[in-house]
Amino acid sequence: MQQKHGKLATRQSNSKTLMRLGLPAVMLAILPHCAPTADKSLSGSQSGFVDDPRLERGVSWQLAEHRKRTLSALEYDFALSIPSELSVPIRGEATLRFQYNPQTSRTLATGVPVKADETQQSGESPHSIKFPLVIDFVDAAKRLDSVFVNGAKSTWSSSEDHVLIPAAMLEEGANSVALAFEAGDAALNRSGDFLYTLFVPDRAHFSLPLIDQPNLKGSVAWTISAPSDWQVVTNGSELSALAVQSELAQENQTTRAFVRTEPLPSYLFAFAAGKFQRETKTIDDREMTMYHRETDRDKVDANIDEIFDLHAQALAWLEDYTAIPYPFEKFDFVLIPSFQYGGMEHPGNVLYREASLMLDATATQNQILARASVIAHETAHMWFGDLVTMNWFDDVWTKEVFANFMAAKIVNPAFPEVDHELRFHTAHHPSAYAVDRTAGANAIGQSLENLRYAGTLYGAIIYQKAPIVMRHLENLIGQDVLRAGLREYLKDNAYGNATWPQLIALLDSKTALNLDEWNKAWVYEAGRPRIVVTREASDEQGRTHVVVRQEDPAGMGRIWPQKLSLLAITSTSQTIHHIELSGDAVVIPAPAGDASAAMTLLPNASGIEYADFVLDPQSQNGLLRDIGSIEPPVARGAAWTTLWEEVQEGRLAAGLYLDTALRELPAEQSELIINRVLGTLDESYWLRLDTQARLAVSGPLEAMLWREVESTLRGTSARAAFYRSYRALATTDTGVERLIRLWEGDEEVAGLPLSEADMVALVSGLTLRRVDGSERLLDEQEARIKNTDRLARYQFVRPSLSDSDEARDALFTSFANADNRSNEPWVLEAMRNLQSPLRGGSPHLILPALNLVEEIQETGDIFFPGRWLDATLGQTSSKRAAEIVSGYLSNYSQLSPRLANKLLQSADVLLRLNTEIYPAELSSQ
Ligand SMILES: [Zn+2]
Repeated sequence: MQQKHGKLATRQSNSKTLMRLGLPAVMLAILPHCAPTADKSLSGSQSGFVDDPRLERGVSWQLAEHRKRTLSALEYDFALSIPSELSVPIRGEATLRFQYNPQTSRTLATGVPVKADETQQSGESPHSIKFPLVIDFVDAAKRLDSVFVNGAKSTWSSSEDHVLIPAAMLEEGANSVALAFEAGDAALNRSGDFLYTLFVPDRAHFSLPLIDQPNLKGSVAWTISAPSDWQVVTNGSELSALAVQSELAQENQTTRAFVRTEPLPSYLFAFAAGKFQRETKTIDDREMTMYHRETDRDKVDANIDEIFDLHAQALAWLEDYTAIPYPFEKFDFVLIPSFQYGGMEHPGNVLYREASLMLDATATQNQILARASVIAHETAHMWFGDLVTMNWFDDVWTKEVFANFMAAKIVNPAFPEVDHELRFHTAHHPSAYAVDRTAGANAIGQSLENLRYAGTLYGAIIYQKAPIVMRHLENLIGQDVLRAGLREYLKDNAYGNATWPQLIALLDSKTALNLDEWNKAWVYEAGRPRIVVTREASDEQGRTHVVVRQEDPAGMGRIWPQKLSLLAITSTSQTIHHIELSGDAVVIPAPAGDASAAMTLLPNASGIEYADFVLDPQSQNGLLRDIGSIEPPVARGAAWTTLWEEVQEGRLAAGLYLDTALRELPAEQSELIINRVLGTLDESYWLRLDTQARLAVSGPLEAMLWREVESTLRGTSARAAFYRSYRALATTDTGVERLIRLWEGDEEVAGLPLSEADMVALVSGLTLRRVDGSERLLDEQEARIKNTDRLARYQFVRPSLSDSDEARDALFTSFANADNRSNEPWVLEAMRNLQSPLRGGSPHLILPALNLVEEIQETGDIFFPGRWLDATLGQTSSKRAAEIVSGYLSNYSQLSPRLANKLLQSADVLLRLNTEIYPAELSSQ
């Protein structure tokens, strides 16, 4: 670990910014050699039991390392009784079996292993200095009933999130600990007639007593008593042949037992129970079952075959790529309404957001591709993450990068009509840049001192930038070397753990290249290089050279080595120059005279290059003029991204960008580019135009969008994409009247049947636009909704659409109570409505929302803090909002660096557009 933390200690580029803001510098190389548990707290207890070993909240690195050294061969049995009433707690019994190897236990206290003879000399019995067994369980004092160790009742105490069992109770070698408890609801996502666990990254111990760290894997066998008319899904198949008895079972409950799993990290332990429908299908001799709650049978029928086929294709692809058969006992999946994430990769019990898989007829190509991607992503995790797991969550990005990187490859064969190089670009670069250009940018590899902060590591840098970096690595060492290396890595570490430095060392051994420098720059540095293209006169005949050079935006002299494809476009030709860019500028001779001056230079034509590309004025003008004619499409898509980054960095006026988009969209045939450009219209329109410019452009914008909705030359998914933009952006009387007619059913769009979800979106938009009789429309929509899950969501969100200031504020105020935030997608939808620019936002709610973010990070799931901040700050450019954020940043110094980074990411556009409030040198690195 020493070497690894040396690497992680590389300076994070934002620490200077944070210090200038009065915030603490980013924590570096955090893990000290001395554990927080000092010697004296371990001595003096005759029984060897320590009341207060000063354990901290969450699972610290020291605790995890200590347990890794002293425990092994873990097995769990969990028996749970799930009542149908939401208010009745779930009771459970856990049995934990393990091998105990106490020789090195004292290393927790001193960092130095203690030999047996030394303990004898110190006058303490070996047991008296042994650290207790620490089991993680939140609120143990309240919820733990009894502990038996090896059949004998044991004393225990609790400290922070832990149960402490005297080491004297343990035997060297095999042990078993049985605990009777009341399960905490925090990670169980209970609602009226279903529930599901979501334990990633460290939330298993919020509900169950266990060893909650990724590198102590254990097999788990579930026995679950639940209402007899419920379905129960766990990591293992149901043991159908056995008549199962459980003492916990109550009236009207059926008890089911399940096959013991392979060794799993605790964050993958999972079950779901409730009223679900089952659909089973066998493909290539593999039986898979899908559980879901969609009541519209036509919708299920329209989606079901594709969902199963995509899973089967992904499984077959991965078995081939990895040369390892599917490594777990069964493959089932559950579609959860309003699930927090797109999906979660529990073996045998993958969870998905229902709406991501069950698509409406109005799905865009992006949604269709995203469905294939999320299925491929979760399936790839079965090997990358589940079979081989990161040793600690600082390497969580390794499982996410491989899932996304593999997903991009897996999806290709199923969509031969799609340009997958362009798809890779549009799916990764814009989102990665949206974080990496901000003052809150983080490196891919981050340090982590305690699992309770693991959630803050997630974001676009892990999901979008890391796969780009992996493509660079693959280009560097070759596809075959990468695949051979990954096969070896998976085989050697199957059902175990590994670190990124182990993998990079393995790959390094297979190539003559030195990957160390590359690894340091791309994995352990935050931000992106700036790559500047200029033309420089070189001789008297008017010849010029094109000069491409790299700069470090933070002025720290860092170098990000990479390959570029520079596209030089003249009126008669397009030429690609391949460039290896390291520290030195690269010079390319240009044609003489006029041809040189008129040439447009695009430095990222392969779509894989990663930087802030600074165009010279001729090239910027050239792209604005000729972007529609750039070929191939991946170069054109990259050109659009480059223009958008020019807008973001303040080098191009949003009005010019928007004019170009309005002119080019009608002729654009690539749906990937259409979706990407449409995706920038909201921000251009609402945040970057003043009222006058908005009024001037709204008519032509709506007219163009609606023409494309009705175009008979376009396919359904492209028309659906234009329709969605129209629904979001229509503000003229003509536009709003059309939206009303669509909702009333007085107007239809041929070939685009609007679903229940589409109708809810329409009526929400209409009320935000304050059309007459809003409350009547909302009542009518409520009466129309047939699906109970969608109705529950609608009723929850509805006050955010109300005309009444009091009703909206009361809803926001209710979010101060964590119980009212438990359904995160509902809360986020309401928050976006409250801040919608269609109604002018709610600036008075910004500060209270910021004040809640720390608590939200403690109580919420991993993406919630960032999304909460995005919903609060992502739709405004107002001076007042910028003042609030700026004031908060300077007055509130105890905000954790990682949370401060999230805030700087979400507020980036707002702060850049108000540089008089928030100086530019703070918002750009
Ligand atoms: Zn993932």
